[in-house]
Amino acid sequence: MKIAQNTVVSVNYKLSDAQNNLIEDGAQPMVYLHGGYENTLPKIEEELDGKDVGYTSTIQIEPEDAFGDYDPNLVKVEERNRLPEPIEVGMQFEGVAEGSDEEPVIFTVTEIADDKVVLDGNHPLAGMALRFDLSVIDVRAATPEEIAHGHVHGAHGHDHGHDDMEDGEPGDHFRSQPLQ
Ligand SMILES: [Zn+2]
Repeated sequence: MKIAQNTVVSVNYKLSDAQNNLIEDGAQPMVYLHGGYENTLPKIEEELDGKDVGYTSTIQIEPEDAFGDYDPNLVKVEERNRLPEPIEVGMQFEGVAEGSDEEPVIFTVTEIADDKVVLDGNHPLAGMALRFDLSVIDVRAATPEEIAHGHVHGAHGHDHGHDDMEDGEPGDHFRSQPLQ
């Protein structure tokens, strides 16, 4: 079956930066619903559209087509006592960026000093060109329910609640939109 709108695609992938430094050696294949559901990066869908099992490709995606340019305005320093304890580098919080009205942003703790904490609202892959080695391993028709929900169900045989979008489907971290 060829990859088209409303097919579920399983892809083995390896993610590197433009200098070929490995970022992620996809131990699990990415499984996503094809056809503009923002389950994965549009450039990946573009590359795979019309292809079949066995297709392999390496593509480089520039920041503007991936997670955007790094925005220094999204870095802020907070008083440590305004944040919950214990706090560790790598923890994430949802917040609102200064100057932007409502759009919630995920902030990652990148540095902790005695009484200050640095929060970075950029996506961890912002500002980076991303190189994907892709290898299509499975293509199937999506179920009507998957199409209605706009995402894949049961990739690993688990059930998930309708509004449970945080159950970590394998393709989720390449969503162009942050999870709600
Ligand atoms: Zn669902």
